[in-house]
Amino acid sequence: MSGSVGAGRRAAIVGSGPAGFYAADFLLKAGLAVDLYERLPAPYGLVRYGVAPDHQTIKRVTAAFDRTARQVGFRFRGHVEVGRDVALEELRRAYHLVVLAYGASSDRQLGVPGEALTGSHAATAFVAWYNGHPDHEHDQYDLASERAVVVGLGNVALDVARVLVRPLVELAVTDIADAALDALRASKIRDVVLLGRRGPAEAAFDQGELADIAALPGVEVLVEGDVEFALPEGADAAVRKNVEYLATLPREPSGNAERSVRLRFLASPVELLGDAERVRAIVFEDNELVESGGRVTARGTGRKHELSTGLVIRSIGYQGLPLPGTPFDPKRAVVPNEQGRVLALDGSRATGLYVTGWIKRGPTGLIGTNKACAKQTTDLALADLDALPVPTLDPEGIDRLLAERGVAVVSYDAWLALDAAEKAAGAAKGKVRDKLASVSAMLAAAGVE
Ligand code: FAD
Ligand code: NAP
Repeated sequence: MSGSVGAGRRAAIVGSGPAGFYAADFLLKAGLAVDLYERLPAPYGLVRYGVAPDHQTIKRVTAAFDRTARQVGFRFRGHVEVGRDVALEELRRAYHLVVLAYGASSDRQLGVPGEALTGSHAATAFVAWYNGHPDHEHDQYDLASERAVVVGLGNVALDVARVLVRPLVELAVTDIADAALDALRASKIRDVVLLGRRGPAEAAFDQGELADIAALPGVEVLVEGDVEFALPEGADAAVRKNVEYLATLPREPSGNAERSVRLRFLASPVELLGDAERVRAIVFEDNELVESGGRVTARGTGRKHELSTGLVIRSIGYQGLPLPGTPFDPKRAVVPNEQGRVLALDGSRATGLYVTGWIKRGPTGLIGTNKACAKQTTDLALADLDALPVPTLDPEGIDRLLAERGVAVVSYDAWLALDAAEKAAGAAKGKVRDKLASVSAMLAAAGVE
């Protein structure tokens, strides 16, 4: 798209994760001015607060986002929560177009008895805690039990398992939160059991992620239970890699490993049992696979097993939430849209309103997936430009509103000050970065209190 198409026009983007940054880049390149609103004082969404601390090479994608932020016409508006500090309607009045890129911050529930017991947690919270998300500054995890059970077999479940078994010296040099490092230092967990409700061919993780765990010193990865490694007809390359790799893994413990990660397929939790409010065991049921409507699903056999544990982490997917003033599809937990153009509740197009990333497609896909997603959305937004009404407010009007409401806005330069402070504090401790744990400490380091 040529650099002049959007000249004189301006866009607001809500959310500064990968989807928001990729959308910003496409719009800036088309000549629009872009204000990127983010509820936290720091940018990058799940790249900062989701991607595991021992995946520093992946986090380096932020260098590309930094290049976007340095383009003329870009402003970062950190520490501004749309829907709380400023209404979406206010933004729509001040910009030609608004792109929603606010991700999927909640979690799915298992819906089994005992899920709310102490010691039973959502992976969304656990991951945010070890990554130093300020919403989770005061969370606490008791890692005193020998066994942890992780429900789900996606890449997030593997992140959680890996962080629980990885040698501490390797984690200590990352940007992991100090509170998590302290808890892991005292951890008694030696055995992590992953429960997958379907079979090896339906596992959602990537083979390389499991191989990384098996390669950790002192860690053994096993496959348990009565399971077949048959390749379904027409299996794609990822499924083939998973199944072939899983078939090579040991079925019995060697007795030599310091820590084990055990995969249990065809197993669904049916209840968490507790002693005085604290989880002490999980009951799971064996499943069989059935085909229904072209999809392989799990059906309980009635055969149940009890496994003692003091920590259950439910890693069965993230979930989008509605933003005040936005149409929302509660069934799919996304903003209803047609390739990124937001649809109002009556199915008509919401003029000048667009969506991208997890809140558009649902909570799956790698960082790069959001680039193609943002391209699709912004191409349509740019095609609509001439038909969009001229805004009646201007962005300075929004700045004034925020100032009147006492919101301390973090600019990109202020973020860079915060970033430098975290890196310097990290260097002093031999870590990549020492994340500031609270919003107030972040604002102080950014110099915007
Ligand atoms: P997010 O990254 O969630 O960004 C949304 C942003 O919106 C956040 O910054 C949030 O604070 C902000 N926001 C929310 N509400 C508001 C509001 N009301 N006002 C203003 N701002 C708001 N992919 C990989 O390729 N490699 C990996 O190693 C990898 N690891 C992952 C680990 C975990 C635990 C998870 C959950 C995902 C991982 N992914 C990984 C996937 C990748 O992180 C996602 O594809 C990507 O982050 C989704 O981008 P997004 O911009 O839609 O959402
Ligand atoms: P995911 O890939 O969708 O996996 C969710 C898992 O939960 C699946 O195994 C699913 O099983 C299971 N599940 C769902 N509902 C369940 C229920 N009621 N009971 C039992 N199990 C249930 O989601 P994710 O792990 O949260 O990852 C999100 C995205 O981020 C993915 O695209 C992932 O690849 C990406 N990510 C990538 C990396 C990386 O590259 N290193 C790291 C982390 C995340 P079914 O298949 O049976 O539904």
